[in-house]
Amino acid sequence: MIAALREVYGNPSSTHSQGQAARQRLEAARRTIAEALGASSAEFVFTSGGTESNNLAILGILRALAGKPRHAITTAIEHPSVLECFRQLEREAFEVSYLPPDRHGMIDPGAVANALQPQTALVSVMHANNEVGTVQRVAAIAALVRECRAAGQEIYLHSDGVQALGKVGLDLDVLGVDLYSVSAHKIYAPKGVGGLYVRKGTPLHGIQLGGRHERERRAGTENVPGAIAFARAVELCSADEPIRCSTLRDRFEERILAIEGVERNGPLAGRLPNTSNLLFHGISGEALLIALDMQGMAVSTGSACSSGSIEPSHVLLAMGRTVDEARSSIRFSFGRYNSAEEIDRLAEVVIACAGRLRKAKAREVQLV
Ligand SMILES: *Cc1c(COP(=O)(O)O)cnc(C)c1O
Repeated sequence: MIAALREVYGNPSSTHSQGQAARQRLEAARRTIAEALGASSAEFVFTSGGTESNNLAILGILRALAGKPRHAITTAIEHPSVLECFRQLEREAFEVSYLPPDRHGMIDPGAVANALQPQTALVSVMHANNEVGTVQRVAAIAALVRECRAAGQEIYLHSDGVQALGKVGLDLDVLGVDLYSVSAHKIYAPKGVGGLYVRKGTPLHGIQLGGRHERERRAGTENVPGAIAFARAVELCSADEPIRCSTLRDRFEERILAIEGVERNGPLAGRLPNTSNLLFHGISGEALLIALDMQGMAVSTGSACSSGSIEPSHVLLAMGRTVDEARSSIRFSFGRYNSAEEIDRLAEVVIACAGRLRKAKAREVQLV
């Protein structure tokens, strides 16, 4: 990408040689990513990231079907970039069913079957959850959608695959989705570039107005260095990386779950290899996050921080956790550049910090 920033300066829409050189690099990047997804180049649209891909998929397809069906199905545990699109559609007089997960964060395909109506136009179920890592049974849901289509219904399936890319085996043709969102920065490429898979024959209206880029599906000059970096990051994802990552994750969980008052949020199996969301009963997740940050360790409470007030995670609440439990939960994510030594050190520090916070809390309670 750094070389491309210096050398591939042309605008891919320009006719001159510099422009055409940029076009070639952009199309090569598109081929690499499409191939890795089991798609054809024409089915892959570059965007500015996962958020835009989700917006384009949901708003783009329902606008393409304008005036026809008025019902959509999604889940209560989607990323805000999906949930907010559906909230907007509700304001536009759409009916939306938000399916709740079970206590492990799993959506039952049977619940999707029950929610389907003759006027359902779109089903959107994320492939893997970003807070607890639950991997959904998207192929089973795709089979249900295909059945409706075989019966003459105009209905499409979108999946937010931002967390799944590079972490679970992917072949979109086998998965059976019509739209699939991905983002580069979740696989070690820079922020600000992503893409949307649009299965051949799927109607889609661009949601931003302008030029006729990306086969009229996404107006705006393409981010060529970003696309090149995204393609390289896809090439660098290896099949054994998820195994290595889950080995580290399991090593960490084994130590932490051995201490008292700690529980896992999310399933043991059927989970992303890099995610460990843990509930530390009686401890403030925020306090633990800050204590770990002071030791140079970056973790997340998995909650969105809006205007200074810390909202408890909508995912954990949907899974049946209480507000207190959600506020006592921390998400640990592991990756390509973590070593076993780091994991051991992390476990040590977490155990020490959790112990200290519990003692402080006990003193507080005594004083009261
Ligand atoms: C990060 C993320 C997004 C948003 O992607 P951006 O590229 O940051 O806009 C969407 N969905 C999920 C599941 C994510 O984890």
